[in-house]
Amino acid sequence: MAFSLFRTPSSAPSDPHTVELEAILKDPAVSRAFRYLENSTRETTRELITINEIPAPPFKEQERAQFVCQRFQEMGLQQVHQDLEGNILGILPGRSDPAGTGPLIALAAHIDSVFPEGTDVSVRLEHGRFFGPGLGDNGSGLAGLLALVRCFTQVPLSTEHSLIFVGTVGEEGPGNLRGVRHLFLQNPCGRNITEFIALDGPGIERITHQALGSRRFEVKFEGPGGHSWGDFGIVNPVHALGRFIYQMTSCQLPPLPRTTCTIGVIEGGTSVNTIPGWARCEVDLRSTSETELDRLEGHLRTAAQLAAQEEERASLHAHIRLKSLITSMGNRPSGITPVDSRLVRLALEATRLRGAKPLLDCASTDSNLPISLGIPAITIGAGGRCGGCHTLDEWYDPTGRETSLQRTLLLVLGLAGLAA
Ligand SMILES: [Zn+2]
Repeated sequence: MAFSLFRTPSSAPSDPHTVELEAILKDPAVSRAFRYLENSTRETTRELITINEIPAPPFKEQERAQFVCQRFQEMGLQQVHQDLEGNILGILPGRSDPAGTGPLIALAAHIDSVFPEGTDVSVRLEHGRFFGPGLGDNGSGLAGLLALVRCFTQVPLSTEHSLIFVGTVGEEGPGNLRGVRHLFLQNPCGRNITEFIALDGPGIERITHQALGSRRFEVKFEGPGGHSWGDFGIVNPVHALGRFIYQMTSCQLPPLPRTTCTIGVIEGGTSVNTIPGWARCEVDLRSTSETELDRLEGHLRTAAQLAAQEEERASLHAHIRLKSLITSMGNRPSGITPVDSRLVRLALEATRLRGAKPLLDCASTDSNLPISLGIPAITIGAGGRCGGCHTLDEWYDPTGRETSLQRTLLLVLGLAGLAA
């Protein structure tokens, strides 16, 4: 669910970020780390299969979270804990901050999958591809995160500034970013995070630096209901819902900043010969601009009111009222990490230095939250290829994954500094 919005700026050989990363690449410890990522690809795939076969439906990520917690501990991260929302955190202190209480560069991956409880999440290998719901999104991100932790602690590789590794809960749909929201708004560690990188899905090119905001609402109309013949003329919630949908779909939406409105679910009524007692719909509003989202939410609230009033005016029984109820189902803030920020520049150069063509894009991910708070954040792929994302036929091919993980490693080293 991402689309490219921007022309990716090209780099000059003298770009300071390129020079900086090239110096890091020359360090023998970094060569060892790159070889480690190449040589441990089987282990990473084994870990991916183990992760994927532990179900992690929205709000039920506990078992997979425990696995991540145990792996963080085994790999030697410090201050490993699960926070009150269910996120798993572990710190790798930098040379300048042995207690790990200073500024933190965060590398995260979401633990949850979209699949409900009871989904068969077992993995099978067919013609060189692994099949299993959730393998790409976000089994691959989580396995990539663990591979990078292993790399840092086993090579070993030390940084100037401290790193924090995070498995977040509640990234997908109904989770409404609850994990990352808690991390930044309530967990004391969140206050120390200066840059945030989320590993989400496969690939190497994508650098999501723009947060696609969304607001979701249930809009419901309620009336007394009655007989289609005997009570005809009283307010009809389905008719009011029709008026509301007309109002919403005739609203002018700007092409830029891209803004969308989708009514994805309608429901209501009892039978063909009954005036319904209720009708409801679910509305998804999206935009790259918070101002447009405010405007569109205002339009939605007015449209619901107008629809109810029009239905009451059309009714033959003026004293019978129609209730309109609006409930928020989710809110993901929008925003942007500027293209000329150090984080995005380093991500662009690290991608190029690993032989790929970076692609800046916009999507709704864990990075939405830090971006909306003004904390530089991006979401990138964890390598390999995947198809059928969010379906039961999801597949994943790890070929080339190590190059993408090397890109992430290089980026993290660029941000945190390689300790001499
Ligand atoms: Zn994801």
